[in-house]
Amino acid sequence: MFESYGQVAEKGKSGVQSSALPGAAPSATLALMRPEILFSLFAPVTSLPGVGPKLATLVEKAAGPHVVDLLWATPAGLIDRRKRPTLAEAAPGEIATLDLTVDAHHPGASRTKPYRVIASDPTGFITLIFFHARADYLKKTLPEGARRIVSGKLESYAGGLQMPHPDYIADPDKPEDMPLLEPVYPLTAGLTAKVMRKAVAAAVDRAPELPEWQDPAYRARQAWPDWKTALANAHNPEAQSDLSAMTPARQRLAYDELLANQLALALVRARRKARPGRALSGDGALRAKGLSALPFPLTGAQDAALKEIYGDMAAASRMVRLLQGDVGSGKTAVAFLAALAAIEAGVQVALMVPTEILARQHMETLAPWCAAIGISTDVFTGRDKGPVRTEKLDRLAGGAVNLIVGTHALFQDDVAFSDLGLVIVDEQHRFGVHQRLALAEKGARADMLVMTATPIPRTLTLTAYGDMEVSKLTEKPPGRQPVDTRTVALGRLGDVVDAVGRAIRKGEQVYWVCPLVEESDVMDLTSAEDRSAHLKTMFGDKVGLAHGRMSAADKDAVMERFNAGDLSVLVATTVIEVGVNVPNATVIVIEHAERFGLAQLHQLRGRVGRGEKKSVCLLLYKGPLGETAKARLNALRQSEDGFFLAEEDLRLRGSGELLGAQQSGFPIFKTADIAVHGELLAAARDDAALIVSRDAELKTERGAALRLLLYLFERDDAIKLLRSG
Ligand code: ADP
Ligand code: MG
Repeated sequence: MFESYGQVAEKGKSGVQSSALPGAAPSATLALMRPEILFSLFAPVTSLPGVGPKLATLVEKAAGPHVVDLLWATPAGLIDRRKRPTLAEAAPGEIATLDLTVDAHHPGASRTKPYRVIASDPTGFITLIFFHARADYLKKTLPEGARRIVSGKLESYAGGLQMPHPDYIADPDKPEDMPLLEPVYPLTAGLTAKVMRKAVAAAVDRAPELPEWQDPAYRARQAWPDWKTALANAHNPEAQSDLSAMTPARQRLAYDELLANQLALALVRARRKARPGRALSGDGALRAKGLSALPFPLTGAQDAALKEIYGDMAAASRMVRLLQGDVGSGKTAVAFLAALAAIEAGVQVALMVPTEILARQHMETLAPWCAAIGISTDVFTGRDKGPVRTEKLDRLAGGAVNLIVGTHALFQDDVAFSDLGLVIVDEQHRFGVHQRLALAEKGARADMLVMTATPIPRTLTLTAYGDMEVSKLTEKPPGRQPVDTRTVALGRLGDVVDAVGRAIRKGEQVYWVCPLVEESDVMDLTSAEDRSAHLKTMFGDKVGLAHGRMSAADKDAVMERFNAGDLSVLVATTVIEVGVNVPNATVIVIEHAERFGLAQLHQLRGRVGRGEKKSVCLLLYKGPLGETAKARLNALRQSEDGFFLAEEDLRLRGSGELLGAQQSGFPIFKTADIAVHGELLAAARDDAALIVSRDAELKTERGAALRLLLYLFERDDAIKLLRSG
């Protein structure tokens, strides 16, 4: 079985299956396994005082469905009411707490006019303003002649001071009614700050005392508080600086989460090591033939990666290796030679790709190489039906096929191999962990090579693929022309269209990408449709359109026509297949480039510059650009190194905002921000490795505490790996 904990994000906001999102059937066995001491934290938020079913929906939206989710919802701001100026000292714009005497009530002259209350202290006057006020309520709260402590935001109006809708009005004898410091939590429409604050405070109160899972020496060195104190500190900031991700409390909570992540991965890795794989090693003859069948010599990076792969395959334990390489770095040739190493050792190879079109493209590349050395290949996709399908399956089961390239269709139950020894997943971030699992089950001891086309920042690699060995293709094949990358203001659309026309006249092809407008598929569609209509008026039926709303077959048909050169311009939303290779495409226009993430822009740009001809990437933007957008587009102009750009992307946006992180299947952290807690991640990784080497079953006292930690961060799946789970 192939286990990876990389892609937990796909299972929903709150993590793994066992967290039982409302509406989803909870897994009874897992729920039973959760230790009792954590029950109250995994109760629904409705179990908190003041959170009824209606509010629960909102609280859930803001934080998550369980009490524990509120613990991780750390405040983003702080309201400080400690400033107590006299009215003479008070300044508009600030939040102040005033000691006032109520002078007079002036009800609004009409329904639309505000109710005003005049109040004073020995140094001046202020008007308290209430819209849609209830007179009887105000008379009771602010009786004329009484002293009141009033807190809220000051404004200036017609030369005087006013305070619209004070946040608090308290009796001077009961100052405890007014909190002087209030954490501010991320909210959602309809959820008031007060309700959220109360709910979180109740959740924090409910947090049980838990045994320490951190290494005592490490914790002492860091001067971090214990878990419960850390929670209390994180939720009760006393100064703006307490909101930093680098306070001892926040660091501790972040470390806890990173440790849970790394420990889960380390357990997976340890368990895999403990199980038998098979040593695949041949005499090298086929590989030698393969090398001479390739139309180019390998780059140093390809060579180095292959050495690592061959080494893993020849070892008795299962290979689970990640091959990271930028678009165009030559992963296919690496996959080809790895496949030969397996075939040479007498087993079959499956190359999994996310789409039908990629399956066919891979086969177009591989078929001649394979034919040259007598390797039998086949393609298997959802399109194969009836007798053709049966025949293909027979050949596969009978061992007549050495290398099969296929899509999800290979996961189907009736697909059987004669002896599957190597699974290569050309992932492009499309396969879910479940699908990888399903395929791996067909070859329980099969080696696995996962290829990703998106360079990932080092820290993210650790969190998502920390259970795998990693090879990187950092060098590109020689002779690649750099892509001339330019930013162009949307106002110069005419120039861009001219450039497209020139490319078409030269017989070259053009991608025109329209953005995904957030939360509006409809607008998306219109923008791509409008653009293609516009371009059609100029270039006629050489313009094709592909978008996310089309059926897969229609989309494929359009891509095929572009592939075949029937279309000169392909207008598309981001559905352009990640691995699509049309060397004749020399121009890519990305409209509203400011809306795309850096990694995504880099991916898109990788569609061109694949042939001999000079290529251009035109980043069409709508000004004015924000600082981050500017930095992003600049980085892209300066570099084509995907690894560099990935680190830049992380730095510019912070992991919390990593656009598309969810789709890419990276773990979403609740308390940790890997953009700032990178060092803690490295420490957690070392810590986890040490724990697993000393106490693989988590049986010691600290081990027991670590189990709680795994449950706390909903890594119940990792606990299942422990024999005495
Ligand atoms: P990836 O899958 O990593 O995006 P490909 O495997 O499709 O990249 O390779 C991109 C292009 O580079 C292909 O046209 C391929 O033939 C070519 N290529 C791969 N390796 C080499 C090499 N060592 N020397 C020259 N060209 C290469
Ligand atoms: Mg590829």
